[in-house]
Amino acid sequence: MLTGIRVTIIGGDARQLEVIRRLSELDATVQMIGFDNWECRLSGVRKAELTPAAVAASDAILLPAVGTDDAGRIESVFSASSLVFTEELAASLSADVQIFTGMAKPYLRDLCKRHSLALTELFDRDDVAILNSIPTAEGAVMIAVQNTDFTIHGSRSLVLGFGRTGFTMARVLQGLGARVAVMVRKPEHFARASEMGFHAFYPDSLAEEAMSADLVFNTVPSLVLTAKVIAKLPAHAFVLDLASKPGGTDFRYAEKRGIKAMLAPGLPGIVAPKTAGKIIGETLSQLLSQTLDNGRSPT
Ligand code: NAP
Repeated sequence: MLTGIRVTIIGGDARQLEVIRRLSELDATVQMIGFDNWECRLSGVRKAELTPAAVAASDAILLPAVGTDDAGRIESVFSASSLVFTEELAASLSADVQIFTGMAKPYLRDLCKRHSLALTELFDRDDVAILNSIPTAEGAVMIAVQNTDFTIHGSRSLVLGFGRTGFTMARVLQGLGARVAVMVRKPEHFARASEMGFHAFYPDSLAEEAMSADLVFNTVPSLVLTAKVIAKLPAHAFVLDLASKPGGTDFRYAEKRGIKAMLAPGLPGIVAPKTAGKIIGETLSQLLSQTLDNGRSPT
């Protein structure tokens, strides 16, 4: 239980509603900022304005999946008001407040550093990233189906990167009957990919592998689908770049060559906000109850 813990949720999307429900179930005291258009009847939950006085007594603050933009603005789909994480706001927070977000841009990281505030980027955690890879792979399949005129079954699908997202992506494609090739850069990943029935290859063979690809799913967050690689793709190939912005594809060259290529960020929040919210809510409540167990008593 999180009795006595005061959590402030600032901005966000449908995922936050699941988090708020979970925190309310666990008896936390929840204050929502930037939820003007959401009518909430959960116990222990109230609305507030974004002022230093309102956030000062928080034990934890949850920001959206992308904490703030480069100017400190916090996005909220439930409000038209502007929400900004300012210096003044950071200065008003107690020294042992915990700030949570999915991933932080340099603005938020720097602000927290300057004010010695503990910042946790939840999407960095293996447990969150692995669970998020499930809606990501499902969303990727949906987009691939919508953008091709052939089945995934029987297609030759390349998955670039064999980390938390690439691993799930490759397995899901295999389950749909694709012939899956996986680009890895470590021998142990080469061995594991082969053991799982994938065709494994190293980055120096990517251009050659591209020649027979129908679908390409990139999870590598640096430029791997270069003009040289895209030049080898068959004209019907479809590239779905799942890596964080700006992705790992030379989109300019893909367009020039007439290869359909898309960047698809934030799929868990788009295709499965309820599941994605549960993942965040569960992890956040575990982390907050660990804090309680470690002796920080709620005031
Ligand atoms: P991860 O576990 O760190 O996996 C990244 C993979 O890329 C690893 O296999 C890594 O190889 C490989 N890699 C990194 N740099 C490389 C390079 N220069 N050349 C070749 N391979 C390279 O990360 P993840 O959790 O799977 O996430 C992957 C990306 O997807 C991130 O950008 C993440 O933000 C994004 N993502 C997007 C969505 C969405 O909705 N589109 C959802 C979740 C995540 P090693 O293992 O050898 O280091």
